[in-house]
Amino acid sequence: MTFQTMPKVELHLHHEGAAPPEFVRGIAKEKKVDISGVFNEQGQYAYSDFEDFLRIYEVATSVLTKPEDYARLTRAVLEELAEHGVIYAETFLSPDFCGGGDVKAWMEYLAAMVEVAEQAEQELGVTLRGIVTCIRHFGPEKSRPVARCAAETAGDWLVGFGMAGAEMVGAPGDFAWAFDCAREAGLRLTCHAGEWGGAKMVSDTLDQLPGIERIGHGVGAVSDPALMKRLADTGVVLEVCPGSNVALGVTQSFSAHPINTLREAGVKVCISTDDPPFFHTTMTREYEELSRAFGWEEDDFTALNRVAAEAAFCDEDTRARILKGLET
Ligand SMILES: [Zn+2]
Repeated sequence: MTFQTMPKVELHLHHEGAAPPEFVRGIAKEKKVDISGVFNEQGQYAYSDFEDFLRIYEVATSVLTKPEDYARLTRAVLEELAEHGVIYAETFLSPDFCGGGDVKAWMEYLAAMVEVAEQAEQELGVTLRGIVTCIRHFGPEKSRPVARCAAETAGDWLVGFGMAGAEMVGAPGDFAWAFDCAREAGLRLTCHAGEWGGAKMVSDTLDQLPGIERIGHGVGAVSDPALMKRLADTGVVLEVCPGSNVALGVTQSFSAHPINTLREAGVKVCISTDDPPFFHTTMTREYEELSRAFGWEEDDFTALNRVAAEAAFCDEDTRARILKGLET
C-alpha cells in the first residue's frame, strides 16, 4: 500500500476551497465571467498573503451561483477525494455563498449536493457529510441566519456547525447565539482558532463557545503547555492542516510544524488539507511531507485516521463502517 492508496479520513475541508482550478475556469467560461486575476501563469490559484487568499477565494466562489453548480462542484470534490484514498470526509458549507443565508434557497443547494454525494458514494467509495460554517469576518449578525439554515437542515447528512474566515475579527463569544442555535438543533461543533490567534484564541474559543468538540487548526496551542494538557485531558481534537499552514506562512516548513510536538504532548490531532488546490496540496502530499519531516510511517497515519474517525460527527453505524474501512 502507498500513501496515496491507504484509506483516509479528512475532517477539515472547505467545499469551495476544494474546487479544482480547471473546474472553476470551466464554469467561469460557461457563464462568461472574467476571473483572470485569480490564476497565475501556470493556471493555479494565485495570492500573496492570507487577506489576498480570502479575496481570491471569494472571487473564485462567485462563479458558483446555482444549486446545479454546487452539485457539479460536489462531484469534482468527491472525485479528488477518491483519487487520494479518502473514504470519509466532512466538508464545510457556507449558506452565505449558497443562497445568501435564506433558508429556502439553502435547502435547494443542500438537496442538490446531497443527491450527488449519495449517488457517488457507491461508485467512488467516499462517504461525505456536511458542516455548515458561518464566516467570522462577515460579522455576528450574518452568523444568525446561517445558524438558522444549519438548524433547519440538521440531520443524518448535515451533522455539524462551525466558523471559518478571518480569525482575528471580534471574539468567539460574539458568535455565541449562532453556536447555541446550532447546538440546540443537535449539531456537533467545531471552530477555526489558533491558526493565527495563538493559544489564547484556542482557550477563548473553548471558554466562550460551550460544546466545541474540535478546533480547526489549533496549532497555536503548542506555545502553552497548560492548554495542551487541557486539550489532551478533555479530548478536544485539532483538525490540523500542515500544508495550509506552510503555504500561508503560519509555519516555515513541514519539519518546523508543531503537529509532532502536539501529538507527543497527548493532544488528539488529525490531518486535513483545508483548501487543497489553493495550497497546492493533496492528502497524499500531506502524508509524504509529514513522513519526510517526522519519520511517520503507515502505522502512524492509521492511528491518526482512527482519531479522525472517532471525532467524526456522523452517526455510530457510519463510524463503525469507516473504522472497519481503515483496517484494510
Ligand atoms: Zn479551514
